[in-house]
Amino acid sequence: MNCFYHAEKSAIGICKYCNRGLCSECATVIDDVIACKNRHESEVHQLEQLTARNLFQSKRVGGNYMRNAVFYGLVSVAFIGFGWWTLQWLGLQAVLFIVLGVFLLYAAGANYFEARKYK
Ligand SMILES: [Zn+2]
Ligand SMILES: [Zn+2]
Repeated sequence: MNCFYHAEKSAIGICKYCNRGLCSECATVIDDVIACKNRHESEVHQLEQLTARNLFQSKRVGGNYMRNAVFYGLVSVAFIGFGWWTLQWLGLQAVLFIVLGVFLLYAAGANYFEARKYK
């Protein structure tokens, strides 16, 4: 591939913004990626900032899921434990607590797997 602006020169890289081949004269490095010198420097910089922000956001979302997973997990253990413990006195009502606990356990598991997706 040759430089988009100098057809006779071979390209050393591709601009991240316009995907055109660039020779050493036309290429410039912004935030560790290549951009057209004096043409797409600010565009590539903005692109990179956007990506960095997305990464940060997905990490935060993953943290939320993990926090939910821990919360549901603790509540479900409390419900199941309470149901199990009172089963002989409360009967059907205790079973209800256990069912609710199992449901919360499922929610905790779902949140846990969701959180792992963001790692
Ligand atoms: Zn460009
Ligand atoms: Zn060039």
